[in-house]
Amino acid sequence: MSIMYKSTRSNSDKVTASQAILKGLAEDGGLFVPDAVPMLDIPLDRLPSLTYQETAYEVMKLFLTDFTEEELKACIRGAYDDKFDTEEIAPLVKKDGAFYLELFHGRTIAFKDMALSILPYLMTTSAKKNGVKNEIVILTATSGDTGKAALAGFADVPGTSIIVFYPKDGVSPIQEKQMLTQKGDNTNVVGIIGNFDDAQTGVKKMFGSAELAERMDEKGYQFSSANSINIGRLVPQIVYYVWSYGQLMKQGEIKAGDKINVVVPTGNFGNILAAYYARNMGVPIETLYCASNENKVLFDFFETGKYDRKREFILTSSPSMDILISSNLERLIYRIAGEDADKTKTLMDALADQGEYEITSEMKEELSCFVGGYATEEQTAGMIRKMYQTADYIMDTHTAVAAHVYYEKARESGVPTVIASTASPYKFTRSVTDSIDKEKYDKMGDFELVDELNRLSGVKIPAAIEEIRTAPVLHDTVCDKSEMQKTVEKILGL
Ligand SMILES: *Cc1c(COP(=O)(O)O)cnc(C)c1O
Repeated sequence: MSIMYKSTRSNSDKVTASQAILKGLAEDGGLFVPDAVPMLDIPLDRLPSLTYQETAYEVMKLFLTDFTEEELKACIRGAYDDKFDTEEIAPLVKKDGAFYLELFHGRTIAFKDMALSILPYLMTTSAKKNGVKNEIVILTATSGDTGKAALAGFADVPGTSIIVFYPKDGVSPIQEKQMLTQKGDNTNVVGIIGNFDDAQTGVKKMFGSAELAERMDEKGYQFSSANSINIGRLVPQIVYYVWSYGQLMKQGEIKAGDKINVVVPTGNFGNILAAYYARNMGVPIETLYCASNENKVLFDFFETGKYDRKREFILTSSPSMDILISSNLERLIYRIAGEDADKTKTLMDALADQGEYEITSEMKEELSCFVGGYATEEQTAGMIRKMYQTADYIMDTHTAVAAHVYYEKARESGVPTVIASTASPYKFTRSVTDSIDKEKYDKMGDFELVDELNRLSGVKIPAAIEEIRTAPVLHDTVCDKSEMQKTVEKILGL
């Protein structure tokens, strides 16, 4: 069956998967969604015998139906190789009865690598398939992890360049250093005076400007996106939920058909949406727990049916989840609105204009497989400390938010539960060591703390961290949130 992609905001023409990947965002500002979510066509009891790469092929071939088998397999081979520090790619680790799906074994030690390792391959293959002559300019807003993962993925990829905007005061010191030391002639990193939502809004505005697109085209450029609004990110993320089900079977924890739960630390709603798609494809997922930090706009939404971004933006120790406008929620809204683009557009316009919207009670009923939860800063730190002391397992702050929600809400169900572990603790070293013993570690430097974490955890320091210890800073552009387009024009010489 061939799958086409349509916008969540209008019934404009459908596009192929490769075209949707190239465009990133639909022209009407909507997000591309598949016109049907395909069912897995291999039996669940075959999953335990598949490698990660084979699982990826089984899932992605169902969505990217205009890619040939050779094309898709070449993309998968290029992406999931020894860039990952384990052959399993995404190991499933049991601690105190829960299953941590470690998604941080890629090049930049956050779960963004799971999709951004393959996106450059999907993008260049899509460009070739569609006869694109322009240079593709990847324009990305990051709350810290997407930026580095996208930079690493696209650095020196022929036919592409990349511009990353991040909130200057809204990322961890290690995250910032990872981005600012990025090599590659086609890479650009810009700090903005503003928060992540400002960066994301600015980027979306540039995507939506026909006038800018025209001027770019004249100079031989066109935009695409590496943000999770791109279906080329969403589809590879479905893979690891299917994989985790196979791993639970392989480890003898479940039989084919048994129910599982997932808990996902959530920001832009991309990761958990992938789990929802896996569920719709036939993976027996009972409940999806959406875990938020103190920016708990999603928790409130799942409780009340009202999405309200009019609140203070809080900088937390889990900065990759410091988001008040969760872009990918739009794809869920579209689905629970009965795939009604007009209804979706009305709600999204209300969010942009009034800062809030409320779904109907029928729509809310469709959300019964979702449960929201959240962790305060204190609870997050407490979780890290507790798991270090009782299970000898050191987790990062984002994973800790999810683990807290697991203990608070999911554990009592007795259903085997997969917790998406989205970053290495080395990426958020200071917050992690502060959680364990603030008084002791407060005065140490960032890299002293890295060595201390190594001593505490016994986990080898990842290459991603060793690399930036001495690497020179190569990017220093900073601009106001109102000057993002001007900065892009300057970089591209428009
Ligand atoms: C991006 C990110 C998240 C949030 O994922 P979304 O797909 O945006 O919901 C959580 N944890 C980490 C470490 C991340 O980098």
